[in-house]
Amino acid sequence: MQTKLTLSHPRLIWRLVMPLVLIVVGSFVGLSLYLPTAFRASALDTAHDNNISMLKQARILRSYYGKTVASKVGKSDHFKFAVNHSQLPNAIPLPSTFLQEVAAELGDEQSRLKLISPYPWPFRESVPMSDDEKDVWDLLSRDPNRVVSHGETVDGKRYLHTAIADRMDEPGCVSCHNGDVMSPKRDWKLGDMRGLLEVTSLLEPHYAAAEKRSYMVLGSIGAMLLPVVLALLIFAWIVDRRTREKEEVARRLSELTNFDPMTGVLTRQSFIDITTVVLKDKTYKSGFSIHLLNLGGVAPANQLHGTPCGDQMIREAVRRLRDGLPEHTLIGRLGGNRFVVAGLGLECQAEVRLFVADLMAMMEQPFGFNQQEIPMLASIGSAIQSSDGERCIEPLLQKAEIALATAKHSPGANALIFDQAMQDTLEERQRLLAMIDKALCKGGFELHYQGVHDAVTARIKGFEALIRLRGADGRLIPPDDFVSVAEASGAICEIGAWTIREACRVAATLPSDTFMAVNLSPVQFRAQAFEKPGIAEVVMAALAESGLPAHRLELEITEGLFLDRNDAVIAELLKLHEIGVSLAMDDFGTGYSSLSYLWHLPVDKIKLDRSFVTGWSASPDTAKPIIEAITGLAKALDKRMTVEGIETSAQAKYFADLGCGMVQGFYYSRPLPESDLAVSLLRFVGTRAPPLSDDLSGWISAKA
Ligand code: C2E
Ligand code: CA
Ligand code: CA
Repeated sequence: MQTKLTLSHPRLIWRLVMPLVLIVVGSFVGLSLYLPTAFRASALDTAHDNNISMLKQARILRSYYGKTVASKVGKSDHFKFAVNHSQLPNAIPLPSTFLQEVAAELGDEQSRLKLISPYPWPFRESVPMSDDEKDVWDLLSRDPNRVVSHGETVDGKRYLHTAIADRMDEPGCVSCHNGDVMSPKRDWKLGDMRGLLEVTSLLEPHYAAAEKRSYMVLGSIGAMLLPVVLALLIFAWIVDRRTREKEEVARRLSELTNFDPMTGVLTRQSFIDITTVVLKDKTYKSGFSIHLLNLGGVAPANQLHGTPCGDQMIREAVRRLRDGLPEHTLIGRLGGNRFVVAGLGLECQAEVRLFVADLMAMMEQPFGFNQQEIPMLASIGSAIQSSDGERCIEPLLQKAEIALATAKHSPGANALIFDQAMQDTLEERQRLLAMIDKALCKGGFELHYQGVHDAVTARIKGFEALIRLRGADGRLIPPDDFVSVAEASGAICEIGAWTIREACRVAATLPSDTFMAVNLSPVQFRAQAFEKPGIAEVVMAALAESGLPAHRLELEITEGLFLDRNDAVIAELLKLHEIGVSLAMDDFGTGYSSLSYLWHLPVDKIKLDRSFVTGWSASPDTAKPIIEAITGLAKALDKRMTVEGIETSAQAKYFADLGCGMVQGFYYSRPLPESDLAVSLLRFVGTRAPPLSDDLSGWISAKA
């Protein structure tokens, strides 16, 4: 059983989609953590850049004012510089004052420009430098070209301070400062740092804008990703649902294929699959056996009461098995009326026998249907897994089949455990079957004819046709070796039809006061089951074909024919009787209770079985009363009688004296081929009994 890794596995689609969804969602979460920080950092950069640009502008403005305004005013007598220039009519602001005032005009809450100086100009005395400013002064004093920035939080608001050095970059500035009376020092030189230019900007608006931007970006990314994620989830959900539906259907189908719908037990294949796993499991060391159970009662139940009755019997058998066997016992239905049970843990033959006996006991009680009791007729074939044999279920099943077939063919044995002899017998049967099939196609059968003699005169009254099969080596195979095989396969119908035709043909060549006896198998009365013409039909055709009058044909039947009390058989017998052929009850006295049949059926003759003749020789006192009773019965019922198996003159004399009409046996003649019949007929013409000496061996061996 292979399990393919396909999308049909419901969880697989989730295994494919969920990582994608997680990657998308994870990336989004990562972005949402990263973007605001990145935007804030960029906002800080922007604020810094703005500060620098404002500082540069301030420096340009100051330089411009110094060069274009202050330089002229310095030389003018009319105008003068004054910090409080707004109150004086001819005063203009000092460059630093100008810058501070412009800065005050331009500055707002978000960014302010400031001029800071450590020099104690009189108008700056009230503005001492803060510690931060002093630090910045120190830094810029060391490297006046750099830009110094630092952050500060005041009252919860974040500010960015950016400062550059304010240097003496104009010679005019230097001379002016050195000449100014209020100047804190007189030795100003070009490039000297006279103060700091610092821009302070409030970061909150930048941060707010950055946050807003980051939210907008995240929102757009989210708006793009959300449909993707949703689409993936919906796709996975649909695929998952479809595959679950498909799996449900597959599961239901597998239930239907794994379990027999009528009984709920395992099907043949699933039984094989499961037991194969058990057998291949190296840890399973306990005993293992297989038991095939055949319910012979199903077919008659179907025929007599209809298929619902047969079905109920099958269900009843399963119910009994389930009730009677331990829970979890593996039970399978191999089809029709055949079941299989796995015997797990049965360690020895004795335990297996007990188990089989239990199974038989479960089926012992007849099945009740419409107030009738119908026998289940169970037979069981078992096979035990040998400890050193190949651990494979198929050969075990085959062995159990052989045991079952043997049990069904062996009278009195309903349950058998497989042994090698059964297999040999089966192989022999199969070999014979192949020979039979070949003989049917190529004409390998022969009839030999044994004379039926008048008990008193030994004159030949008729012949019994006895079939033989010619083997490949030319050897003749006797009917006892192959008829049962042909019966089991149904080939006996075709063989029997040929026998009747051939016997009629030969009989038509013999004197008109002789009859021809042909043996019939009970199976020939069930010919329709093998889709072959019925026996009466075959007989009529043979008579018509050969031109033999019906009264010259005698058909020998056995008591086995009446075993299943089938009305169709009796109807067929009556039909044969109507045709005009006579019926003889063969092997009389060996079977069941023939008397009732003798009474009711159109039987014209009884053939006393050979066992009475040998019985008479062995123990005359015991045999005589029975022989005489049967002889009396035949006379009373007005039936003709033939005694079979006469081998000695004493036997011939006894049965002749008893008044048995006809005799048959090696004492008179062995079965002979058609070519010897004329000689045989001539030999017995006019002979009086006992016709020959007891020593017939010379003559027989010459002819046989
Ligand atoms: P059966 O019908 O009882 O035939 C008599 C058998 O006894 C024959 O054996 C015959 O050779 C044998 N026999 C005859 N006289 C003596 C005797 O004095 N001593 C001994 N020991 N045996 C004697 P065969 O030919 O081997 O036939 C055996 C059985 O095979 C027959 O028993 C019959 O039941 C069956 N059979 C023979 N031919 C046919 C046939 O064409 N169709 C069917 N269905 N069965 C046949
Ligand atoms: Ca016979
Ligand atoms: Ca017989």
